Formats: sequence, C-alpha cells, structure tokens
Amino acid sequence: MHFAFTPDQETFRTELRAFLEDHQTDGNHDEDHPNSALERALAENGWLTMAWPKEYGGGGATHMEQLIFKEELARVGGTADVLGTNLVGPTIMVHGTDEQKREHLPYIAGATRRWCQGFSEPGAGSDLASLQTRAVRDGDDFVVNGQKIWTSSAHLADWILLLTRTDPDAPKHRGITMFLVDMKTPGVTVRPLTQITGHRGFNEVFFDDVRVPARNMVSELNRGWYAATTTLDFERSGIERNLTARKDWERIYDRVRTPGGRAEVVDRSGAWRHNLAELYIEIEAGQWIARRIAFMQSQGIIPNYEAAMSKAFNSEIGQRVAQFGINLFGLAGQVGEGRYAALQGNTVFRYLDSRRLTVGQGTSEINRNVIATRGLGLPRG
Ligand SMILES: Cc1cc2nc3c(=O)[nH]c(=O)nc-3n(C[C@H](O)[C@H](O)[C@H](O)COP(=O)(O)OP(=O)(O)OC[C@H]3O[C@@H](n4cnc5c(N)ncnc54)[C@H](O)[C@@H]3O)c2cc1C
Repeated sequence: MHFAFTPDQETFRTELRAFLEDHQTDGNHDEDHPNSALERALAENGWLTMAWPKEYGGGGATHMEQLIFKEELARVGGTADVLGTNLVGPTIMVHGTDEQKREHLPYIAGATRRWCQGFSEPGAGSDLASLQTRAVRDGDDFVVNGQKIWTSSAHLADWILLLTRTDPDAPKHRGITMFLVDMKTPGVTVRPLTQITGHRGFNEVFFDDVRVPARNMVSELNRGWYAATTTLDFERSGIERNLTARKDWERIYDRVRTPGGRAEVVDRSGAWRHNLAELYIEIEAGQWIARRIAFMQSQGIIPNYEAAMSKAFNSEIGQRVAQFGINLFGLAGQVGEGRYAALQGNTVFRYLDSRRLTVGQGTSEINRNVIATRGLGLPRG
C-alpha cells in the first residue's frame, strides 16, 4: 500500500506552514510562559478549533487535517492549549448542558479561558477510579473536599475539569461525578511543583469546602467515569511525541554534520553512526504508527490497542534519543549552560524532560497491558 496525503491536504499543509513560520516563536516555550500570542493567532484563523464540529463554531476538519496541524505545530516547536480545545471542549460538547456549551465553548475557541485537568490524586493515577476527592450535595451546590496532583498548568488555569466521588458506597466506577470548577472559587489552593528540569509544569490542587453549583455538573450524577473516558479518548494519539523525538534527533544530526561538530563526539568507535541510523528507523516507524491512528479515525474506526502502541513506542523513542545525546557528547552532554554545554544545554534538558514521557497519559506498563489483553488477547494478571 502506498500512503500519500491528498493534494488538498498538501495545500493545507503548505498554507499552515507559511502561517506558522510567520508567527514562529523561539521554540523555547516552557510551562511558565504559555505561548498565548501564537494561540490567539491560531484562534483568530480558526485553526485552534478546526477539529470542532461546525455547529460549535469549529472548522469540521478531518482527522488527517488535524494530524497535519499537529505535525506542523510541532515542527516549529509551537504549543497550543490542547487541554481546552482537545479535551475539555469536546467533553462539554458530548456530555455538557446547553448552558455549559454557551458558557464555555466560545472562550475555549477564542483561547481566552485556560483549563486544567483535575483527575489524578496522590492515591489514584493509573487506577484513576480509586479517586477520593469528595463532593457532597448541599442545597443548590456541591461541597468539594480533597486533593488533586500532577495537575498540568493549574497555576495558569481559569477553570478545572474535576472528577469527584459522590457515592462512596457504590462500585468505584459508578460513584464518580464530573464538574466544571472556577479556579477562583474560595477554598481552591494551587501549589506548584518544581520538576527535575527546574520548570514548573504541574501542581497540587487542594479543595477545602469549595462550593460548586450543581448546574456545573457534567453528565449525570455518578456517571462522571463515562464522561472521563470520553476525555481520555481525546487525549491519545502519539504524533506529538514522535515529532518531539524527531526534533531532538535532528538537533543532534545537524550538530554532527556541522564542520567541527564531530569533534564533540566522545564515542571514537564510530558506533554512534549506527545508533543515529537506528534511531532514524525507529522515528520513521513511530511516525507511521501514529499516522495510522489518524487514518483509522478518518475511516470511522476507533483505535484501541493501536493508540496504546503509538503512545508507548513514541514516548520511548523520545527517551532513547535523549539518552543517545548524553552518550554521544559525554560530560558536555550533562552541562546545562556555558561554553562546554552540548547543544547549548539542550542535551541535558531533553534527557531530564523526557523522563515524564512514559508516565503521563498512560504509563508504558499500562499501555503494554492494553496491547497484551485487547490487542493480543492474552489473559489478564
Ligand atoms: C507530564 C505529566 C503531566 C500530567 N498532567 C496531569 C494533569 O494535568 N492532570 C491529571 O489529572 N494528571 C496528570 N498527570 C498524571 C498522570 O495521569 C499519572 O502520572 C499517571 O496516570 C500515572 O499515575 P501515577 O503517577 O500515580 O503512577 P502509578 O499509577 O502509581 O504507577 C506507578 C508505577 O506502577 C506501574 N503500574 C501501576 N499500575 C499498574 C498495572 N496495573 N500494571 C502494571 N504496572 C502498573 C506504573 O506503570 C508505574 O510504573 C500528568 C503526568 C505527567 C507525567
């Protein structure tokens, strides 16, 4: 089979690439400095919500166009508030009330309201359904008490998509309710966590007698698990991780091809050439695994274990490329700044930053469980 993008898709890619190159940032975006200028520009052009159905003001783009959008955005090192447009917006579209749609969708589309995802807790990560944050009905409100953790961008967010336990006596999946909560509500406290890289990407979020109007409930009481499943389905794809790995690979490749660049290589055996070639094969393979997910979706097929394959494989390539950088440049690869720092400190930064890839959005072990049971039909346990 020969896979190719259609001429229309290629035209779209060319237009988007020109736009992104015009609005290119320095690529050094980090979680403390969200790239709101690029986001607004994308929003103004309708590209931020190109995947949304037309009835909600979106562009009704196909899965393949969305794939191209993600590929091109990652190519220039740009980011967008994917949480709002890719997760929260679609969850509200499927499970929200008309009032919630009116109240939130235009702000998400306009990139003027930031969201975070309050799912994980200290005792509930892979086993998310064990979450304990309590919401108890009191008149027209629910009163929320508990703690979330690893909440990306909570320190920048205006609202949080929150999972709570509303029936502690029901089987764990059936006692969970989802709410939309204004982060300015009294009793919400955000405490940033500093990562291994020194950046602050995620946070602890505490809820202390937080009153949430009952009308902010998404879906029905105790049916939040099923709304959360929708959210998690929107999360999976894998192409961004593949493109991050490719970008890291290209930085190394460009360096060793530059006159004088090879002098920095500490491996005198020459084996690094094979390692670079090997990683290139893996990146190409990972790209096709990820593109296949979008292709399946475009054919109306819901990816299942295939998405787990893409996530596990592409996040692990990212780590292998980062590890290779350290091996290639030796101690200079471990220096963060100054004249000795390999790739201006990028080598060590990417090594540290890539640790998170195999944890978030389903750990490698959980994804292998999915591939083993749903893909290969192996017994559980
Ligand atoms: C960069 C990043 C951003 C994140 N952002 C958010 C966010 O915005 N909102 C949010 O709610 N959460 C967020 N998370 C949290 C993420 O969802 C959890 O880290 C993830 O679900 C794993 O949970 P855990 O960290 O509690 O690890 P655990 O679930 O405690 O797992 C610990 C180890 O045990 C293994 N393990 C657990 N269960 C099994 C099993 N059944 N079989 C085999 N091995 C198993 C895991 O693979 C892992 O190696 C983020 C995480 C990262 C890394």
